[in-house]
Amino acid sequence: MSELTLRKRIALEAAALMSRNILKEHPLRQLFWECTLRCNVNCRHCGSDCRKLSEVKDMPREDFFHVLDSIAGRADPHRVFVTITGGEPLLRDDLEVCGKEIFERGFPWGMVTNGLILTPERFESLRKAGMHSITVSMDGLEENHNWMRRHPQSFQMVDQVLDLFVQHPQIASDVVTCVNQRNYEQLPAIRDYLISKGIGYWRIYSIFPVGRAANDPVMQISNEQYRGMLDFIRKTRQEGRIHVSYGCEGFLGRYEGEVRELFFNCQAGVTVGSVMADGSIAACASIRADYHQGNIYEDDFMEVWENRYMPYRNREWMRKGECKDCRYWRYCQGNGMHLRDGNGNLILCHLKRIQEPSLTVK
Ligand code: SF4
Ligand code: SF4
Repeated sequence: MSELTLRKRIALEAAALMSRNILKEHPLRQLFWECTLRCNVNCRHCGSDCRKLSEVKDMPREDFFHVLDSIAGRADPHRVFVTITGGEPLLRDDLEVCGKEIFERGFPWGMVTNGLILTPERFESLRKAGMHSITVSMDGLEENHNWMRRHPQSFQMVDQVLDLFVQHPQIASDVVTCVNQRNYEQLPAIRDYLISKGIGYWRIYSIFPVGRAANDPVMQISNEQYRGMLDFIRKTRQEGRIHVSYGCEGFLGRYEGEVRELFFNCQAGVTVGSVMADGSIAACASIRADYHQGNIYEDDFMEVWENRYMPYRNREWMRKGECKDCRYWRYCQGNGMHLRDGNGNLILCHLKRIQEPSLTVK
């Protein structure tokens, strides 16, 4: 374990112990609702099944409310945060009605948007419907962002959304950026731009090699760049001018505890659940359908939450291939569930990316 200092190992041990206790309880804390598959842009890195005019109809809101009622029967709704995703949630005309109902049932809620049609009026109506948090995507400065989103006005709209964020500090807001070959060198400029706008929270992701992004060399950064990105996050956090963190995936060895709030621990199916657009009961929106646990049109959500999800709560089955003899297993447990293919094999080990900078992603 030479990679880790004694101090870090002690902290990781404490975190591992805590996560074992949480596993026993598996309290639902975050519920994603994929409220539509319709989308108004066609992003290059999108791994979802969204289409401009999706053949999958939006889920009727009452069907989702049944899920909430099932949860409220067994858990405290105030402790379950509902995050509305898509597709693009703003394409639903009844989004405010949905938000208000969610709020009135006692659940705090927030949403993730591309910001393209988020006007000040819409923001205000969502605020009145009880919105607690909002996340917008920004994948570079103007040229790169519009290229990624394939839309010439996308950056301009995000810029206006950032102003709304600053005008409404009572609503938790953040910006997410997917790092790729085009925006990697631009990270300091993006940081400075966000700071100049008054933005306080920024999350950075790398794009995992699945779906169309897997075969696009522009979407994938090299291992050396990956380390450079983590160094950038660490340095920016130390500077303290903006609160930046890396996404939830991957055990990061010596970077653990320095690039995000918590130590790595995939919470999918442990504290995080999802309801997908077709009613599938999932754990986290990034995970393959092979790992869905039921469907709200056949199953009671909380019955499923309490009695299924075994592959998520006992991950010994993932201890194979390169994870089999890994000395970091106790801290990593085989990486995030979204990085398992249909046969349960590991798609990517983040630690290897850090340790072997000359390797490229497969
Ligand atoms: S080999 Fe597996 S358990 Fe070890 S760090 Fe990589 S993903 Fe995690
Ligand atoms: S499956 Fe992946 S994205 Fe989802 S919670 Fe786990 S690490 Fe995060």
